[in-house]
Amino acid sequence: MGYERNIMGMTIEELGELMMKYGQPAYRAKQIFERIHAGDAMSLDEITNIPASLKEKLRAEGIDVFPVNILERLESKLDGTKKYIFGLHDGNVIESVLMEYKHGYSICISSQVGCRMGCTFCASTLDGRIRNLDAGEMLGQIYAIKKKEGIKVHSIVVMGCGEPMDNFDNLVRFLNLIIHPMGMNLSGRNITVSTCGITEKIRELADMKFALTLAISLHSPTDELRRTFMPIANKYTIEELMKAADYFFEKTGRRVTFEYSLIKGLNDTKECAMELSRLLAGKNSHVNLIPVNPIKERKWERSSDNSVNAFKLMLEKNRINATIRRGMGADIDAACGQLRRRYLGSERPE
Ligand code: SF4
Repeated sequence: MGYERNIMGMTIEELGELMMKYGQPAYRAKQIFERIHAGDAMSLDEITNIPASLKEKLRAEGIDVFPVNILERLESKLDGTKKYIFGLHDGNVIESVLMEYKHGYSICISSQVGCRMGCTFCASTLDGRIRNLDAGEMLGQIYAIKKKEGIKVHSIVVMGCGEPMDNFDNLVRFLNLIIHPMGMNLSGRNITVSTCGITEKIRELADMKFALTLAISLHSPTDELRRTFMPIANKYTIEELMKAADYFFEKTGRRVTFEYSLIKGLNDTKECAMELSRLLAGKNSHVNLIPVNPIKERKWERSSDNSVNAFKLMLEKNRINATIRRGMGADIDAACGQLRRRYLGSERPE
């Protein structure tokens, strides 16, 4: 099942065709689209401006607004970050995060149930990829949080469970819907898409000229080290990745962010900082340093504050833009995939 059954993931043109099929006037497509994407309808019942007989016919054919229901909501006592566990129509569960920054609210969503990329510092991949989310299920996470909290969303980050580029068609559909003027009308500048580095998809996205922020999970300045904890590094070299990043910048004019999770004794050394500086010298880029959140299934430890600061200083000395990502929600299973695993461990549906 996918967008051809989930009304939340349909474009206005597809809704138009659907309405024609059911003998409905063309304006119904606009009514439905607006109620879902600019209103707060999360189910067919909540689209109150279309006839009940039409809803019955749609349901009879398995066409519906697929549920993305909040099953659990956790709030950090440290910084107010909120985490949500959502239940999907097939019993799968996913997680999202709401963070409040000075400039407004930001939501980090999942793009897949699980992930098959196998990064060894990540809890999302421990059971592999279960399935892709359709575009409606990606949007549903945002709409459900927005509705629950009564907030205006400033930015979206596709950096939760899953590799967005491994679910490319749904990602593109999602992006087109979230920037739609009749929907949330979000600017590309307020959207970040993360990838562990599937280079041909980076190029494809660049060709589509979405002026968004691309965040590449680099985590190591050398192929040799990267291969020890990111299996994707066996497929694409850092050189290929850098060429794809340059291509993205050329096509979109958007500075690429490199995510760098600092793991104690592994990639947080002075030598790594020097190597990273050489790699990024002269590039219009930004490094986001992330003191890694420990996960109990893996052996990695978080770098000390001293090492994190020294790493950043070294980059800055070499004229590389770098920031340290503020740890958010550390008291509520902060690492991506942890909360979902805890939920499944205690309450896995039969
Ligand atoms: S870090 Fe991202 S790409 Fe790597 S396993 Fe986790 S979710 Fe997948």
